[in-house]
Amino acid sequence: MSKKVLIIGAGGVGGVVTHKCAQHPEVFSEICLASRNEGKCQAIAAQLDRPIQTAQVDADNVDDLVRLIKDVQPDLLIHVALPYQDLTIMEACLRTGVPYLDTANYEHPDEAKFEYQEQWAFQERYQEKKLMATLGCGFDPGMTNIYCAWGQKNHFDEIHRIDILDANGGDHGYPFATNFNPEINIREITANGRYWEKGQWKETPPLSEKRVFDFPEIGPKDIYLLYHEELESLCQNIKGLERIRFWMTFSEKYLTHLKVLENVGMTSIEPVKFEDKEIIPIQFLKTILPDPASLGPRTKGKTNIGVILDGVKDGKRRKIYIYNICDHQECYKEVQSQAISYTTGVPATTGAMLMLEGIWEGNGVFNVEQLDPDPFMERIGPMGLPWQMVELDPEKDLLD
Ligand code: NDP
Repeated sequence: MSKKVLIIGAGGVGGVVTHKCAQHPEVFSEICLASRNEGKCQAIAAQLDRPIQTAQVDADNVDDLVRLIKDVQPDLLIHVALPYQDLTIMEACLRTGVPYLDTANYEHPDEAKFEYQEQWAFQERYQEKKLMATLGCGFDPGMTNIYCAWGQKNHFDEIHRIDILDANGGDHGYPFATNFNPEINIREITANGRYWEKGQWKETPPLSEKRVFDFPEIGPKDIYLLYHEELESLCQNIKGLERIRFWMTFSEKYLTHLKVLENVGMTSIEPVKFEDKEIIPIQFLKTILPDPASLGPRTKGKTNIGVILDGVKDGKRRKIYIYNICDHQECYKEVQSQAISYTTGVPATTGAMLMLEGIWEGNGVFNVEQLDPDPFMERIGPMGLPWQMVELDPEKDLLD
């Protein structure tokens, strides 16, 4: 059966998704990659062994998107441009009747706030149109949600506590650079920390909660509590949950640079007047920092992202750790991109595969933990992100 996929966004993640779709012609028989700048799509196309179509689109503009979708006639759209475009692309998919998949929840362009609410608001219209939208199918959100759903389905009667642990043990050799879109990355870190406990959100000042965690194949690292988007849906979808937190590693060096940039106003999203123009400091900063796509060939080391699930099975307490380790240099060899983009693009491609094959199906808007985790967990290893599961001592707290 001939299936055509339209990928929007030719950045780090878009490159990986395009490579991965191209590796699987049995599912993705035709591919079109579209972005703001068609030249970037052509550069990715030139890295592949099979021809793909490329196109230009302004994904902030629904009419332009509808024009492109009508022209390309895809069976599925994978959105890996920026979270600012989630609503326009979801709207265009609705108008044209094309299933949708993304990797990040909607972010307001002029407010440092990301949330699912406005995407969940499409629920009725997608249901009425008998159309499927899959939200947050990257690594975190994405793979981490699926680890939780798989744990819930196969290893627990109830999960009471979840800790999501995200470590990047990679080194790109620059004094300071962000691994994905700097604007999104910096906004995420400079916001208050937030976690969910017993039905309530609890806030902590930015980077105030710190622990040390010994990551397999990476070693002990400082981890900091952050608010992260998968908490918003997981706290609703995991039965019996009492607490969920998210932790990420940052080095001293990274945090010192960030503090200075913040103190001098460079991470602000408020426009300032510069000579005769208005500029937004964080956008200016983005233009002078290394392009995340350029970090690939320089980055060495590994990532380790996983979840600790703590709950009850057959009346006994049980704790498991499920994680993936990914090597930056191996990713670069395979798809010319570092592990951060790779670990996002591979789950997006795997989710798209399951949708196109009708294994993940439904009418409406879904977060990935609401879909069957088993076929995803079977495929994700061969697709490039093998996982491991370790039984932990339930009495031992590794994070408190
Ligand atoms: P990049 O900034 O590298 O790439 C974004 C791409 O989208 C660029 O090619 C950019 O074009 C294009 N784009 C931006 N605005 C528009 C527009 N209006 N119309 C058309 N194209 C546009 O980001 P990443 O590849 O790192 O990230 C892609 C997505 O993946 C983001 O939503 C990010 O939040 C998400 N992500 C999710 C993760 C997860 O684990 N769930 C982890 C990492 C990222 P141009 O090149 O012209 O700027």
